[in-house]
Amino acid sequence: VEQDKKNGSVQKPIHLSVVNYGDKQGILDAFTRPIQKSNDIMNLVGPIVSNVRTKGDAALLSYTEKFDGCKLSSPVLEAPFPPEYIESLSEEMKQSLDLSIANVEKFHQAQLQTDILDVETQPGVICSRFPRPIEKVGLYIPGGTAVLPSTALMLGVPAKVAQCKEIVFATPPNRQTGKISGEVVYVAEKVGCKKIVLAGGAQAVAAMAYGTESVPKVDKIMGPGNQFVTAAKMLVSNDTSALCSIDMPAGPSEVLVVCDKKSDYDFVASDLLSQAEHGIDSQVILVGINLDQEYLTNLQNAVDKQANNLPRVDIVRKCIEHSSIVLCKSVEEAFEMSNNYAPEHLILQIENAESYLDLVDNAGSVFVGTYTPESCGDYSSGTNHTLPTYGYARQYSGVNTATFQKFITSQAITPQGLDKIGKAVMTIAKVEGLDGHRNAVKIRMQKLGLVPETF
Ligand code: NAD
Repeated sequence: VEQDKKNGSVQKPIHLSVVNYGDKQGILDAFTRPIQKSNDIMNLVGPIVSNVRTKGDAALLSYTEKFDGCKLSSPVLEAPFPPEYIESLSEEMKQSLDLSIANVEKFHQAQLQTDILDVETQPGVICSRFPRPIEKVGLYIPGGTAVLPSTALMLGVPAKVAQCKEIVFATPPNRQTGKISGEVVYVAEKVGCKKIVLAGGAQAVAAMAYGTESVPKVDKIMGPGNQFVTAAKMLVSNDTSALCSIDMPAGPSEVLVVCDKKSDYDFVASDLLSQAEHGIDSQVILVGINLDQEYLTNLQNAVDKQANNLPRVDIVRKCIEHSSIVLCKSVEEAFEMSNNYAPEHLILQIENAESYLDLVDNAGSVFVGTYTPESCGDYSSGTNHTLPTYGYARQYSGVNTATFQKFITSQAITPQGLDKIGKAVMTIAKVEGLDGHRNAVKIRMQKLGLVPETF
């Protein structure tokens, strides 16, 4: 038990609750994510979105003043960006961003689909598919509790690789300075973003979805954010008049670590905490295979010790309140639980971790082996860190190059091809009661002499 130095109050140690093997209800509770009151949020976000939609820049500026405490003269920073932003960066920072950008670009360039797919399904029936970039994309870079240039590069680099024509960033200005971070501006220059919307939350999403006097309307909005951002993304993507899609529904960040008693408990603790510091609604789970009491004690002590050395310890403490260690008896059981939870991040700190990848069915991104901390994927290794949370890893992929592309199909049919499939088309069209469809085939087949005039 630690004495809080500031106010003399007694703080409980930062320990995760332990759920024993076989405790079905306990496991169910442990895997329940912190509840998001979606109705309340929607009621808050709805009026913000509709005000920005109807009143444009004026509403955007007034929400920035209200929520971010900044009175701005323009809601957009346009290229060429003021040089002082980049001048404020150290050489070390620029080199770190360059390395990360290069790795993310290398991995996402390799994913770029440029090939035209041609398949002859029947002689004379050629079906094709070809990719095109989504023309205008809006990339939300969170900036409330932390400045996140890493998100700028995780979204901006694949947009550049996919050759999107217009890349718009949105990020809230700093409450004290009214400015955004030099790192975000640096990334914007590197990826060819020419406009940065100086706003956050639902108002920034609405501005990009509908457009304002100074914010271009985009076709798709990508990026993580808090509950206001997420709710606004879902709202605009459901509004046909916005004609704007989103990458995925996203919630607070989460991790599931699998370890056994040979895993280094300091490493395990550090992985849990690197996620727990994201936000009070984040969740971290450890699935431990055959852990004994000694290991658990060492691990809990490591969590407490490391957490108390983190500047964001207060956030960590709240996150750990709804985070758990779940004990199990075999690797298979661990993966069964992990696949049910479908974590955004899955860390495998077990021996021969790579040999178990076959057992992963649901996860946003997997971190394989002792020396693969999730932080590397968050910033610099090359994979994307914008990933499905809240169990959506069951059906969504994380952001990737194809997120910024769409795929158009085409077909070309010769008389021989029409002869092969025409009658099937007419038969199915007839049962559907769509005579116009049937006729469009019949009229051609008759002129070709493939069916009688009276058919
Ligand atoms: P944010 O930029 O998402 O939100 C800040 C904005 O919220 C402010 O600009 C303000 O406009 C708005 N806001 C604040 N209070 C409001 C209120 N009462 N009513 C209406 N609007 C309000 O930044 P954040 O809050 O720091 O959240 C960042 C989130 O992004 C975290 O939850 C973090 O876990 C998540 N994240 C996820 C990933 C991922 O890949 N999944 C990556 C990075 C960050």
